[in-house]
Amino acid sequence: MVMGTDFPARAVIDLSALEKNLNQLRKCDSNVSAMAIVKANAYGHGGVQIARAALEFGVKWFGVAQLAEAIELRAGLTGFPQARIFTWIFSPDADLETAIKADLDIAVSNPETLLRLVSAARAVGKTARVHLTIDTGMGREGALPDKLSPLLSAAQLASDEGTVEIVGIWSHLARADEVGAGQDATLRQLSRFGQSCKAAEQRGFTRLIRHLSASSGLLWYPQAHFDLARYGIAMYGLTPNPARATTASLQLTPIMRLEADLISVKRIPAGHPVSYGGTWVAPRDTYIGIVPLGYADGIDRHASGKIWVAANGQKYPQVGRICMDQFMVDLGNTPDGQPPLKPGETVRLWGDGSQGEPTADDWAGAADTINYTIVTALNSRVPRIYI
Ligand SMILES: *Cc1c(COP(=O)(O)O)cnc(C)c1O
Repeated sequence: MVMGTDFPARAVIDLSALEKNLNQLRKCDSNVSAMAIVKANAYGHGGVQIARAALEFGVKWFGVAQLAEAIELRAGLTGFPQARIFTWIFSPDADLETAIKADLDIAVSNPETLLRLVSAARAVGKTARVHLTIDTGMGREGALPDKLSPLLSAAQLASDEGTVEIVGIWSHLARADEVGAGQDATLRQLSRFGQSCKAAEQRGFTRLIRHLSASSGLLWYPQAHFDLARYGIAMYGLTPNPARATTASLQLTPIMRLEADLISVKRIPAGHPVSYGGTWVAPRDTYIGIVPLGYADGIDRHASGKIWVAANGQKYPQVGRICMDQFMVDLGNTPDGQPPLKPGETVRLWGDGSQGEPTADDWAGAADTINYTIVTALNSRVPRIYI
């Protein structure tokens, strides 16, 4: 049990595994720079801590979705003014002056936003750095091919005036993680991105930083690497799609382990129901352990009855419905009648599987979701400990 907190559960984040994963991903293409995607509190791992560690491991670019996250990250990285922070979500009336003051790299999809950035840059007296966003087939942010020309015209005007520096061009792949089926769509996106880069070049933007790939593009589409790759889920040691390649086969190490100390162990008789709805009834006299984490902490309730925890290499099935703040596990019996685990003993909810615990992929399978949501959902109530 890791001490130092009164909360009877914790996410243990292994920063040496982060370094290993970064090195592993760099091997995909040593000519491509890394942008560490640390949005959503670094997928639940702790935004500033992960960014600081990645800085130490040589990463210079950081990506967060929301402008508010970018401002917060900049504040958390004082002392590292060289860190580049890229952001792509903000409302039409967002405070762009603050964004420019925070020295962010800002994604722009249309001429209107670019004009607003120009006024903000004038007001602040500082050049705004812009990455042009292209919608090559994601149907999310970005200019569609037929809207690229007006965007480039606005970009030329603004950069001639010096209020805005166009530094990058980027897009996002929708199906690069898929097995088979998504390939045509991905190649179509690639070709559209290439055309957009060419169009920008013809307008004089010859030195743009081009970025298209997130983890799956980096892992599975060498032709989509360009200058910069956005390292997301794979950096946290999880596969973008276990059906395409397992975490182990990618030689990645999950960097988060979630563990909890049993707050209670008690004996219940055969026939006694457990949790809301009485969906599980003890088939024999047994010991029940209470794990002090629930869906308020981000433990996916859909996994109820389909998952397990582990301690000392032993697996204990989770039984009954997962509650808001706790859930129960069936500890079973020992030959001498003693409880298999004692109150206060630590069980692992997820990790790298080395102690028999489930992985985030196992949870995702049990809850019919993706590993991304399992780690990202972990609530701020749960302390993070960095080793
Ligand atoms: C979340 C996100 C990423 C990271 O994706 P992973 O699949 O986790 O690697 C990269 N780029 C954009 C635009 C994103 O929204």
